[in-house]
Amino acid sequence: MSERRELVIGYTVLGRPIEAVCFSPPSYAKARPPAILFGAIHGDEPVSQLMLERLADELIERPPGRETWIIPVVNVDGLLAGTRNNANDIDLNRNFASSSWGSERRPGYNPGAAPEDQPETQALAALIEQVGAERLIACHATYRMINWDGRGEELAKKMAELSGYPAERDMGYPCPGSFGTKYGVERNLEVITVESPYLMAEEAGWLELRSALRWCVDLPD
Ligand SMILES: [Zn+2]
Repeated sequence: MSERRELVIGYTVLGRPIEAVCFSPPSYAKARPPAILFGAIHGDEPVSQLMLERLADELIERPPGRETWIIPVVNVDGLLAGTRNNANDIDLNRNFASSSWGSERRPGYNPGAAPEDQPETQALAALIEQVGAERLIACHATYRMINWDGRGEELAKKMAELSGYPAERDMGYPCPGSFGTKYGVERNLEVITVESPYLMAEEAGWLELRSALRWCVDLPD
């Protein structure tokens, strides 16, 4: 059994708690930097919540090989409302403080009035700083691929092999203010964007990625 803690890492625009679960590796595991996995930063991608809740269930009996933080739902208000954006109608994956952040709006891509001015973005950014995470896994839908930024290439290719999904270097369009741009491109951390081809909370979305997600958090050795 692994040590498991539940924490609230912040509150949404509407005051709902953003919940995380943290697993510590057994004492015999070799030292590795912490990992953070998160889902539903886009509220209309509930499959990402399912994938991470299933992974968290599995880690209770089979602990990870590194400190692992799982946040199944970052955009809690959006998930409950069925919207991509948060309750301020901002796309949280355009709200990160990358140097490319801009206030320019495109349809469906409202980045906010200032970088990281949204509480959900702030909560995730603060957690990354606080725990010193170097492996960051963002779960999205619906492209069916494993995308990497920064130092994530080797991990992305292994996850692609385990899932049968293709590994891609970038999304094929610019993402100013995105999570991957800030933490992968600019900070050179190990950043992976998992794109599930499912949208709703379908069990197949978990089963197809199960081995790849398990790989991300390592076995204790
Ligand atoms: Zn998304």
